[in-house]
Amino acid sequence: QNARASELVASRVLDVPDFPKPGIVFKDLMPLFADGPVFRQVIDEIVAYHGPESFDVVAGVEARGFVVAAAIAYATGKGVVPVRKAGKLPRKTHSASYELEYGEATLEVHEDAFVAGQRVLVVDDVLATGGTAGAALELVERAGGTIAGFTVLMELGFLDGRQRLAPRTVHALLTV
Ligand code: AMP
Repeated sequence: QNARASELVASRVLDVPDFPKPGIVFKDLMPLFADGPVFRQVIDEIVAYHGPESFDVVAGVEARGFVVAAAIAYATGKGVVPVRKAGKLPRKTHSASYELEYGEATLEVHEDAFVAGQRVLVVDDVLATGGTAGAALELVERAGGTIAGFTVLMELGFLDGRQRLAPRTVHALLTV
């Protein structure tokens, strides 16, 4: 791991015990998003790792992934595609259901979200069990995209999400 990048993330995350359920420690990255210079440096670190020549478009997972995805897209001059929770997208979608660390959920993407073969950088804030990421990656491929990478600000290593996504690789700025 890049020590500078992991320290940046570690400096702006708050642990919220028992949210949204007893036993879950919620990793709240709102302080990172709210700090302009730190947010910019974090986005720059991600772009330094996934060079702009390595992807064509950025897909963000609702909702905190949208924040990161839009910033990466703007910084690199790419477009952004939302991977949304069920029932939010207005046109025909592909959908995938999965188990969460704290419940069950369905994600959707527009069927025509990608041009065939478009290289997609998929982003979210936190990787926990990997269920969300697995569904997002599957949806991108079903919609015709090619996975250029999957990146998160923070990974909960003890939940083994990374193993679950293998052979796909995950880039995390900070692993705890
Ligand atoms: P998972 O599918 O278990 O990998 O969960 C990842 C998704 O749920 C991401 O979209 C995260 O934003 C959110 N999430 C899961 N667990 C946590 C946690 N402990 N702290 C913050 N966000 C989490």
